[in-house]
Amino acid sequence: MDAAYSAEDLAFREEVRAFLKTAMPEHIRRQSQLAPSYVSKEMTREWHKILYNKGWIAPNWPQEYGGTGWTAVQKHIFDEEVQAAGAPRLSPFGLLMVGPVLYTFGTEEQKAQHLPGILSGDVFWCQGYSEPGSGSDLASLKTRAVQDGDDYVVNGQKIWTSHAHHADWIFALVRTSTEGKKQEGISFLLIDLNTPGIERRAIISMDGGHYLNEVFFTDVRVPISNRIGEENKGWTYAKFLLGNERTGVAGVGKSAKKIEAIINAARQESDGKGGTLWDDPAFRARIATINAKLSALSMSNLRILAQEAGGGTVGPEASLLKINGSEIEQDLNEAFMEALGNYAQPYDLETLRIDTNTDIVGPDYGRGVMTEHLLRRASTIYGGTNEVQRDIIAKRVLGL
Ligand SMILES: Cc1cc2nc3c(=O)[nH]c(=O)nc-3n(C[C@H](O)[C@H](O)[C@H](O)COP(=O)(O)OP(=O)(O)OC[C@H]3O[C@@H](n4cnc5c(N)ncnc54)[C@H](O)[C@@H]3O)c2cc1C
Repeated sequence: MDAAYSAEDLAFREEVRAFLKTAMPEHIRRQSQLAPSYVSKEMTREWHKILYNKGWIAPNWPQEYGGTGWTAVQKHIFDEEVQAAGAPRLSPFGLLMVGPVLYTFGTEEQKAQHLPGILSGDVFWCQGYSEPGSGSDLASLKTRAVQDGDDYVVNGQKIWTSHAHHADWIFALVRTSTEGKKQEGISFLLIDLNTPGIERRAIISMDGGHYLNEVFFTDVRVPISNRIGEENKGWTYAKFLLGNERTGVAGVGKSAKKIEAIINAARQESDGKGGTLWDDPAFRARIATINAKLSALSMSNLRILAQEAGGGTVGPEASLLKINGSEIEQDLNEAFMEALGNYAQPYDLETLRIDTNTDIVGPDYGRGVMTEHLLRRASTIYGGTNEVQRDIIAKRVLGL
């Protein structure tokens, strides 16, 4: 492996840094820093369009479809810098998920209809995979699509559908056959969320926010021309999409930024003995341990990218990034909560917006810490649970 950065890579890093410094609007940076989950749809779109106009919105796409032509290492540098600059996370459902499915397996008509809106940020998507009882065992899904003339008629329910309330379209896995293996009776449909018969209901998370939804389908007519690829071959496209979902999951830049914030807080919090929390060797050792894990994760990330750059594909090893990235994120959130002590407890959602006029209890650097802690408890569940990722590593990496 050659994971050292070349002179060109270092120059590229400077170019990205300089761009981010001038291009990111201050209100977006501040909201994203304060409480990433409270960045509004409008702010997400504003930031999306800035990157789109720069030509940097889809680094992972082939150049012919609007990609940047960057090397794997440049993409990694870009991800790290964007996270370290505190930029909001773009909606992944179009750019990282259905976009690659469309340009790889879609018809010319489907590409022409959908790719421009995904790139420009004018059309938002959501992911309709999970159902009640079908999460880890996704292939058991039951939402039914039956052909009737030129349409499918869809009936069933999706759950945990992130941002469905903001989305215009949903890509959904539906059952088109109950014969044979369960994986062989699934199709992949693109569904306009304004079609009659679709109902979205909010699920409020334990942090009090609305990101998740249930989506109900009652006799929803979807043109057969909205199916990706062949009928009953949807599992192939679904797995291809999940492979892309796992790239960029390590979140190294974001966690590095959080370590800085924790150290800043610990330098100001009392240790109860006349010094600061940062003087406490046990607390320092704890942060140093997490930091060492983060460095190891960063190297693993680069190793996997170098493998990809050398002509290999990112396979089940990406599960390692997902497990470690999510666990480091949770460890850091817990350390931050403990650093804040009692000031982590007051929880007023109103104070999570930059334009709040509510008085804040405790130091400003404590705003948003509790909400991140509560929300990111789910990071070891979404994108495939960590237990299931460990199964993948055991079977497909270690051959157990
Ligand atoms: C915040 C959040 C956002 C989400 N967003 C979306 C979205 O946008 N679209 C979408 O389609 N889905 C989404 N999901 C759903 C997510 O993909 C599922 O929750 C996840 O795959 C787990 O499925 P489940 O909830 O049905 O749990 P289950 O599969 O029932 O798992 C329950 C427990 O059993 C364990 N388990 C299950 N099978 C095994 C096994 N074989 N070996 C070892 N342990 C096992 C799991 O690890 C878990 O601890 C989201 C979930 C969350 C929490």
